[in-house]
Amino acid sequence: MDNEVFRVEGVSKMFGAFQALNDVSLGVRHGEVLAIIGPNGAGKTTFVNIVSGVFGPSRGRVLLEGADITAFSPQRRTRLGLSRTFQITSLFGGMTVAEHMQLAVRGGDTLGHERAELLEEMGLAGSAPRPVDTLSHGDQRILEMAMAMATKPKVLLLDEPTAGMSVAETDTMIRLICDRLRGKVGVIIIEHDMSVVTQTSDRVTVLAAGAVAASGSPEAVLRDPLVKELYLGS
Ligand code: ADP
Repeated sequence: MDNEVFRVEGVSKMFGAFQALNDVSLGVRHGEVLAIIGPNGAGKTTFVNIVSGVFGPSRGRVLLEGADITAFSPQRRTRLGLSRTFQITSLFGGMTVAEHMQLAVRGGDTLGHERAELLEEMGLAGSAPRPVDTLSHGDQRILEMAMAMATKPKVLLLDEPTAGMSVAETDTMIRLICDRLRGKVGVIIIEHDMSVVTQTSDRVTVLAAGAVAASGSPEAVLRDPLVKELYLGS
């Protein structure tokens, strides 16, 4: 595929005798937002863990810009340009927003003024000196995205970025994904909220029972009778 920055190829995962992922292959192009959706138990979390390097696949490969990173640690993946955000925020309560931004790029090459610019763009500049536990849930999640962006990723994995957010916070997150990420980096977004999917994604892949059940434009995929059945049935 042209301009492809990330690919999983033939990925399967066994937990004992249970097959959580079965021969999943997909790719993301530079600048593209790919949504991964699927009912509970479809294998989305397992997929995220394999992409980010929490554990390896039983079979198959993970490729970043064509290089095989299947055996690499999460830290090494981040250094090479594959960053992620977490479903549950993983911030340190007593530390400030600015300190978190420094932590994000420890050993990296993002300069102080670049970090300040990122916070500005994310609407968090005024919060730089505040301890993170004084931020709203939405702002904490936006800070996590700013931290991931500060590592200058080529591919960004967003794990349910709008989970637990208010309507207004969700709208802010959608705008950030569309303005800051889409067209600039490759994005994989795991998302339950179909309205977020249709507003942010170029393409959607549906996982069901550990396999790719459908793939295409958001409009086509959400019209697919199989997909409707999966969601009504879940
Ligand atoms: P999703 O995130 O789409 O809800 P998961 O990836 O969490 O799906 O889980 C997919 C399937 O794999 C589920 O049936 C789940 O019970 C099973 N599973 C996930 N992790 C483990 C594990 N560590 N050991 C055994 N089974 C697991």
